[in-house]
Amino acid sequence: MLSRIVVGLGISVVCFAVAGRRFFWLSKLIRSGKPAGRAWEGFRRAKEGVTAEIVEVAGQRKLLKWTVPGIAHFFTMWGFTVLLTTILEAYGALFVRDFAIPFIGRSNWLAFVEDFFATAVLVSLVVFTAIRIKNAPARKDRASRFYGSHLGPAWLVLFMISMVIVTLLVYRGAQINTGYFPFTTDGVASPWAFASQFVAHALPSSPSVNNAVEYWGIIANIGVIAGFLVIVSYSKHLHIFLAPLNVAFSRRPRALGGLDKTPDMDMDNVTEDTVFGVGKIDDFTWKQMLDFATCTECGRCQSVCPAWNTGKPLSPKLLIMGLRDNMFASADRLLSGSSDGAVDTLVPSIIDPDVLWSCTTCGACTEQCPVDIEHVDAIIDMRRYEVLMESRFPSEAGLLLRNMENQGDPWGLGGSKRTEWLGALDFDVPIIEDTIPDDVEYLYWVGCAGSLDERGRQQVVSTARMLHRAGVTFGILGPRESCSGDPARRFGNEYLFQEMAKANIETLNAVGTKKIVASCPHCFNTIKNEYPALGGDYEVIHHAELLTHLVKNGRLRPGFNYKGTVTYHDPCYLGRHNRIILEPRTVLAAIPGVTQVEMGRCREKGFCCGAGGARMWLEENIGKRVNMERTEEALGTGADIVSTACPFCMIMLDDAVKANGKGDEVAVMDISQVVEKSLG
Ligand code: SF4
Ligand code: SF4
Repeated sequence: MLSRIVVGLGISVVCFAVAGRRFFWLSKLIRSGKPAGRAWEGFRRAKEGVTAEIVEVAGQRKLLKWTVPGIAHFFTMWGFTVLLTTILEAYGALFVRDFAIPFIGRSNWLAFVEDFFATAVLVSLVVFTAIRIKNAPARKDRASRFYGSHLGPAWLVLFMISMVIVTLLVYRGAQINTGYFPFTTDGVASPWAFASQFVAHALPSSPSVNNAVEYWGIIANIGVIAGFLVIVSYSKHLHIFLAPLNVAFSRRPRALGGLDKTPDMDMDNVTEDTVFGVGKIDDFTWKQMLDFATCTECGRCQSVCPAWNTGKPLSPKLLIMGLRDNMFASADRLLSGSSDGAVDTLVPSIIDPDVLWSCTTCGACTEQCPVDIEHVDAIIDMRRYEVLMESRFPSEAGLLLRNMENQGDPWGLGGSKRTEWLGALDFDVPIIEDTIPDDVEYLYWVGCAGSLDERGRQQVVSTARMLHRAGVTFGILGPRESCSGDPARRFGNEYLFQEMAKANIETLNAVGTKKIVASCPHCFNTIKNEYPALGGDYEVIHHAELLTHLVKNGRLRPGFNYKGTVTYHDPCYLGRHNRIILEPRTVLAAIPGVTQVEMGRCREKGFCCGAGGARMWLEENIGKRVNMERTEEALGTGADIVSTACPFCMIMLDDAVKANGKGDEVAVMDISQVVEKSLG
């Protein structure tokens, strides 16, 4: 007995010391990051944090979206949690052969629960093994979500988990045969411990063999658990401990919508030490460093990324892994706090420029990530550094930035053109010059594409007509409206964004704006979610929301003049970023002749059109065009109208439909145009 105590505790002390040292080192490394403001935020929004822990961690919501691996992971995670009781029992058995946890340790229900989860974990491991064998060539297959993941360590972890369960069941089986099983009443081992009973029957009946198996089985179980702890602390399976922390400190309700940080761009506050954005790993916040350490390399983000799926070099998984590797490689410097010596910037030494500039900021990666990693903010942080500190960016963007700066719109057409679309209306729309009159309910934020692009204008003309028909009063800023700044911000030019945003806020405040209806999801997102940090607080809705309201109230009744099949493309900044998913479908459903068909990738899983993140104005020379990929999916539904609720999506999809030779058969329309079509 003494030897068992010495060996069991000896192994544990050594392994716990090694793992503990590693965790202490990791915690120091992560805390070396810049302040993130998340600790206070986490405290302030504790209720939402608790909900997230219940839904994301305990409920495994995101993982369960992928049914088979999701269920397997659910049982493995809960198996590990529930089987903590068996660790207590194993350590207790070092001292007392039939040790039982006080109060509950001899009950049939605990015997059943422990054996059930032990069996469930074993079955889950078989599922994981099958998935990994099926994906064996995955590391070299771009189509696989495991492309680029470290598969060797994953096999080791599967083996270690299986050994934890096997050694557990083996020593419990032996305990039944030696009469030292804790779940024993009147000399009869509980039949509810069904898996342990199965092993007991499989073992030889010899008492000496069972004594030896029990003795070494407990030591082996403790040894495997302690060894596993060490392996976890040095591997991607760190997520077992870090995921709940990362979820706890994540942005609420999700890291989508507005960007996380609004840096101080006041040039009066700039010193020679000021760094805009992230140039080297040292510039990331501790929360971002926690993100990097938490990545499980599961590849869910990679599998949904429009850039990766169209042959671009950007994989959000490989990007996060690259940053994590660089964080570990830079640990000595980070921990010493030394800024001595030249350090290569992340771009291009760690992150290829083509990787950085391929992102459309669609948020599909963040939406999918089961451990709430915030990819989009990290990408924009690096873009900010490239643009503001290094002036390194795709050359074609120079014109975009100059146009926005000088003319207030990406095309450089100027404010005087912003009212031309009004000529298509047979009613007057007030152009607000002084203050918004009391009888005008909404300020209609038309947006650059809606004001200046021919197809965008068709969208806003239809929207204006439908609002007017329903008796909604609205006015526009006309020449005083300027770009919301979204392309500049997503491109990384935070300075230009804030200049434009502040000018817009000044105008909006001067005319007494309270309620804004926007047609462009990018303007909608920016004004609603990002202007408040700069002093612009308004009630902002998208026209899809307003049309839904009008249709539901009976103020807008679609007609019978259109009959056909419509598929709806979710704009990323409306659907995924702002969860306006049902409203456009409600509007379409209100049109009697419309039959709706969904694309495979829809709603919060919608596939980007390729325009976001200022990509609309950048060359797309690598791989397949994103809009072609999306449009092929839309055409595959057989719909005769591809509808959407974003002028940029309309332009991208319309271009691709025409390039596909389907321009005469399939129309690309905003939902407001479909409503108008139904009215004849
Ligand atoms: S935001 Fe979209 S394009 Fe960018 S990395 Fe994530 S999934 Fe890919
Ligand atoms: S970033 Fe998230 S989704 Fe992507 S591989 Fe890592 S854990 Fe998986």
